Amino acid sequence: MNFNKYLLVVISILLCLSCKPSSVVTDSDVEERQTGGVGTPSLDSISLADIATEKERQLLQYQGSRERKFDLIHTSLDLQFDYDSGFVVGQAILLLKPYFYDQEVLELDAKDYDIHEIWLQEGADRRPLASRYNQRVLSIYLPRHYTALDTLEVGVRYKAKPNENSGMGSSAITDNKGLYFINPHKVAGKPVQIWTQGETEHNSKWFPTIDSPNERATHDFKLTVEDRYITISNGKMESQKHNGDGTRTDHWRMDQPHAPYLAAIVVGEFAAIQDSLGVLPLRYLVEKQYEQGAKEVFKNTPEMIAFFSDLLGVDFPWPKYDQVVVRDFVSGAMENTTVSIFMEELNLDEREAIDSEWDYIIAHELFHQWFGNYVTLESWSNLPLNEAFADYSEYLWTEHKEGKDNADMQHIVALEGYLAEAQEKQEDLIRFYYEDMEDMFDRHSYAKGGRVLHMLRKYLGDEAFFASLNFYLEKHAYSSVEIHDLRLAFEKVTGKDLNWFFNQWFLASGHPVLDIEFDHSQPENVLLTVKQKQDFNTTPLYQIPFKVSWYKGKERRETSFVLNQAVQQFALENGEATDLVLFDESKEILSESQTRFGREHFERQSLLSKAGIARYEALDSLSNNYPFDGDMALLFFEALDDSFSSVRELVLAKIRTNLDSLILPAEVEDRILAIAEEDPDNKVRSGAIELLNRVGPDKFAPLFYRLVNDSSYYVAGAALAAYLENESNNDRDDLAKRLLESTNIQMLVPLADYITNRKDPAMGDWFHSQLVRLNGESLYYFIGYYGDYFARMSELDHDPAIGRLFELAKSHPANYIRLAAFQAMFGFIDEEGVLEKVKELNAGERDEMVRDYQGFFLESYIDED
Ligand SMILES: [Zn+2]
Repeated sequence: MNFNKYLLVVISILLCLSCKPSSVVTDSDVEERQTGGVGTPSLDSISLADIATEKERQLLQYQGSRERKFDLIHTSLDLQFDYDSGFVVGQAILLLKPYFYDQEVLELDAKDYDIHEIWLQEGADRRPLASRYNQRVLSIYLPRHYTALDTLEVGVRYKAKPNENSGMGSSAITDNKGLYFINPHKVAGKPVQIWTQGETEHNSKWFPTIDSPNERATHDFKLTVEDRYITISNGKMESQKHNGDGTRTDHWRMDQPHAPYLAAIVVGEFAAIQDSLGVLPLRYLVEKQYEQGAKEVFKNTPEMIAFFSDLLGVDFPWPKYDQVVVRDFVSGAMENTTVSIFMEELNLDEREAIDSEWDYIIAHELFHQWFGNYVTLESWSNLPLNEAFADYSEYLWTEHKEGKDNADMQHIVALEGYLAEAQEKQEDLIRFYYEDMEDMFDRHSYAKGGRVLHMLRKYLGDEAFFASLNFYLEKHAYSSVEIHDLRLAFEKVTGKDLNWFFNQWFLASGHPVLDIEFDHSQPENVLLTVKQKQDFNTTPLYQIPFKVSWYKGKERRETSFVLNQAVQQFALENGEATDLVLFDESKEILSESQTRFGREHFERQSLLSKAGIARYEALDSLSNNYPFDGDMALLFFEALDDSFSSVRELVLAKIRTNLDSLILPAEVEDRILAIAEEDPDNKVRSGAIELLNRVGPDKFAPLFYRLVNDSSYYVAGAALAAYLENESNNDRDDLAKRLLESTNIQMLVPLADYITNRKDPAMGDWFHSQLVRLNGESLYYFIGYYGDYFARMSELDHDPAIGRLFELAKSHPANYIRLAAFQAMFGFIDEEGVLEKVKELNAGERDEMVRDYQGFFLESYIDED
């Protein structure tokens, strides 16, 4: 599964704004306060009682893997869908056997059903069975003891009501319905779809099963749908039967066992693009109007499958792979076996697809087909066994396809994401104590997990790392695993003990905080002192293999050390004097580090380092910490030719913000112009346009006018913004009018900005129609402009705009959209009834994080009240 990363950015803003210490009260806080308030008994009695209480609490909260009483072998489902009431009408037949001990009660997960009939299937006969049902678990009383040598077939006829008791979710998965009816009342303008989201234990919202990741079974699903819809599910379509009443029954069969949370169905109208890798059939399924875009968005899939198969030495384990883009998805994407489902942000038209940046999420879900689906965690406590690998696949693919510099940049962004979360909480990666399994889906499991695998790879070397993964996958194929299985596989293959590594990284919380200092007083033998400064009460003293590199001119040398003390000194024995010495040049170690390097060090680093990420760091540090004087400018001008696109992007932005204190030589201006025209990276081109707009809005107006038609929306949008901003361009109205039909957000933002500044009251309908049409991130961006336009148009009736914002803030499925709409309503806060409406929204908001943020926003108004 993947987060909607955009949502994460929003949420991290929320986290910072809502991090008042009193905002979250946990059970342990309450306990602390209670025990803290008990008179003044002796120290011994306090600590002993505390320890006992804490241990009791831990025992109760221990989150182990679920006991396997039965082994589910196969599930046959026959499903129909009642769109009007949002029900699934189903029949399930489960083939099972007791796992080890004799059993006479079968417990199935079945959440929010009406149960119509339960029976034991004996040949053609149905023998009714007694049962008890509490709306969560269906307990079926079997007619006798069954032993592990017996198999039995149990049938259940039921009506599932996925919408009941919905609304609980996590930051990764924002709801728990399991099965979703999208636009069930078939309102024109939005597709009608059904899709499912099983992780964590939500598939039992639509079929009775043993909804635990350490279970795995084969299945066959018969799905009866209207003829115009297609169905997509796990495994292969076995047959299609037309029923003569406008419906059709598709029969899907999944012959390889997998965990219940990985079962999925999608129903809707989709264009299916056929592709293949050898004999493996691949399809990309999207709404018809995104068909051309999808060819571009998903085009790397065959190469990606071949790359991962090769790297792991295990071919793609399943008979086909479908990738489907749906509406209103509750997560970024989900890796159901043979059918990954993606959020609608991947719906791109042909021109938008030129700048598609979705390879990371495509790689992530694909890698799960091995790590998660072929080999599956035995409990959610072991979530990094799925997500750390999927996260790290993003690095592996980027490194392969775009080079190490780009991969390292993703790596640093992920590391910073974890470090930001670590300010709020520090957990073991493998967590046996949590309140809600959805809590496992955080940046620890993903970003920290991926970084830990990166360190392990760098420590062992590529050959050993991938050979170990091969051993692990083959040994545990079609079975469930815990963290020790991974360690044992690495140890078996490499012959190395890795307990220390797994203990400190997977089974403990926190990360090293390193203080790095070089002593150059003997130039031929530079001394490095490293101090570990993390809190040893909560965090390990780490053993860290690391590298130090140094440069003499362009020549690079490297040596390895192991840090295993709190304060430790290392002699480089470098021989001749060096120009630059770097600790962990490629930022492989998961740590926070403190250094005292000066300007000169960073200047050399920016010029000499062969690692793009180190040059980026150097230039960023220089511009953030030192005056942007003539010498600095020269360094930045030179870096416009850097081979790493992120460096060029950074340099353009820094020159732009410091332009007032610079003299831009003609040849540098020419170089920037050339970048705007032909840099291979369209984001870099757009950065160059923004800079040129500061350098000479009139001089470059013809260029901007021309680039408005560039095939890349990044370029066209930046050029449009630049052109519309400049009041000396007399034909701005004509240009804006010509582009009003644009549908891409890069174009809509400058248009909305321009129209709002023109205070053109005739454009209300244009704003309304965009608000209705847009979705996902684009809608998020547009909402602010929408609110701003109407708030500034005093002559227009505000009620329709307030009403639309209220509706979005109240009922949009995505929490970040609800939040944006909520915020936009503050543009009208002084108007009659708006404050009451906003309070009503806050009171009715079901997402705790959004509610907290809203409360923060509301606070000043309530105080004024
Ligand atoms: Zn994932």
